[in-house]
Amino acid sequence: MKQNKQQLRCGYCGRPAILRPASEIYHDPRKNGYVYACSHYPACDAYVSVFPDSKIPMGTLAGSALRQKRIQAHQTFDQLWLSGIFSRDQAYRWLSYKLGLPLSQTHIALCSNYLCDQLIMESQKVLKNNRQRSCVA
Ligand SMILES: [Zn+2]
Repeated sequence: MKQNKQQLRCGYCGRPAILRPASEIYHDPRKNGYVYACSHYPACDAYVSVFPDSKIPMGTLAGSALRQKRIQAHQTFDQLWLSGIFSRDQAYRWLSYKLGLPLSQTHIALCSNYLCDQLIMESQKVLKNNRQRSCVA
């Protein structure tokens, strides 16, 4: 069998990730699509979603603590463009600059725990500054 160089591995235990139906991982038959889960799942609770209608992973495999952190980071970051401070494009450009990552690598699903913390901190700074500004005006 041909070895796939791009094979995704679990960053926690080093085992290869395998494509599984999302409904199995989320225990929800209504979930469509697939996720890459650690081949040692559920003993090793690490997985990552794929982009809709594809088998391309959205980022690196995450265990439950990192998944929660990424959700929190996304919610904080999304406020930047949902509130109209930035457009969505501007927000990702700003984030890529703040994290020192190329724009193509600026995905919250690729962020480590440390980068998520940085992202939350930087996003909160912008949100706070803009709130103050609108209070004065
Ligand atoms: Zn694993």
